Amino acid sequence: TQEHTTYPLAFALTPSTTAREQAERERILADPGFGKHFTDHMVAIDWTIEDGWHDARVVPYGPLQIDPASSVLHYGQEIFEGLKAYRHEDGSIWTFRPEKNAERLQRSAHRLALPELSTEDFLESIRQVIAVDGSWVPSGGETSLYLRPFMIANEVFLGVRAANKVSYYVIASPAGAYFSQGVAPVKIWLSTEYSRAGRGGTGAAKCGGNYAASLLPQMEAYEHGCAQVLFLDGETGQHIDELGGMNVMFVYGSDRIVTPRLTGTILEGVTRDSILQLARDRGMTVEERDVTIDEWRDGVASGAITEVFACGTAAVVTPISQLKGADVEIGDAGAPAGAITLSLRQELTDIQYGRVPDRHGWLT
Ligand code: PMP
Repeated sequence: TQEHTTYPLAFALTPSTTAREQAERERILADPGFGKHFTDHMVAIDWTIEDGWHDARVVPYGPLQIDPASSVLHYGQEIFEGLKAYRHEDGSIWTFRPEKNAERLQRSAHRLALPELSTEDFLESIRQVIAVDGSWVPSGGETSLYLRPFMIANEVFLGVRAANKVSYYVIASPAGAYFSQGVAPVKIWLSTEYSRAGRGGTGAAKCGGNYAASLLPQMEAYEHGCAQVLFLDGETGQHIDELGGMNVMFVYGSDRIVTPRLTGTILEGVTRDSILQLARDRGMTVEERDVTIDEWRDGVASGAITEVFACGTAAVVTPISQLKGADVEIGDAGAPAGAITLSLRQELTDIQYGRVPDRHGWLT
């Protein structure tokens, strides 16, 4: 007879017999790039409709065996998260607001009709990976270990309905400094032909399909020499939603920061929330509201908007020098990063790397 799951989950460890030697690991950590190298172990947890979450384990990193009829391969019932572990000066390892990622994974799960993993089990899954592969967290500069939890529908069935069998995994990948030569402003491409999300859709969920839909406009951005795509809301095509993988912020003078409100079509970024808090702490006025392309154009022209930047886990804060599109060009491609952009970036990374006190209790 099968035991029903007891919570919190207990993880069984199968150590890798092919773990890289220290010299090989150090060679990789000296120049890890992003998303190319993976640590020696991964977490896996299974879920079935009968038994709930069970069989939590830490196993050697390696290929999954998946049936060709597995539902994720056909209908894309998949969600993921992205967060980083940072090594502090004293060697200790910390994650930044991981409970926010746990909660967002739960909201994504709800929208994609996947089972929710409790915050406690999510945090433990992260802890397990770092406990076994902590030596893969790089030190120095703005390096980190990028953690990628993800959940897939894994039932062998071609009917279109929520799967009764699901798997959750956590893999980890050492990441180098995003800006190794100083923080460089980027140009952004305005996609007018494609949108990323619509009313009632999956825009606020971190599901693979949203990113698949962003790849064609992203290619258009590259063709125009731009680093990322800016998406407008799908309904009016007037309001700014977000970039393909980052939220957007506008700085007005020295005391006001404006960002698109959470409408259900944009991702609720952990970095976005943290930057807004740091701005409030400084006494800045924070406005979460609709922002139109016209406001951006007119604000830059009149000098009311002094800085524009994007924010997300990968690059923390990226200054935006220019917006380009089929019939718009806002800002100056050669403009340097703004002072408020840089100081908010500095403050956030100082907290993440333990260089200043963690006054909000954001580190785990
Ligand atoms: N928007 C999108 C579409 C993203 O993929 C991300 C990255 N997760 C963000 C915003 C920023 O979110 P966070 O600050 O939590 O990384």
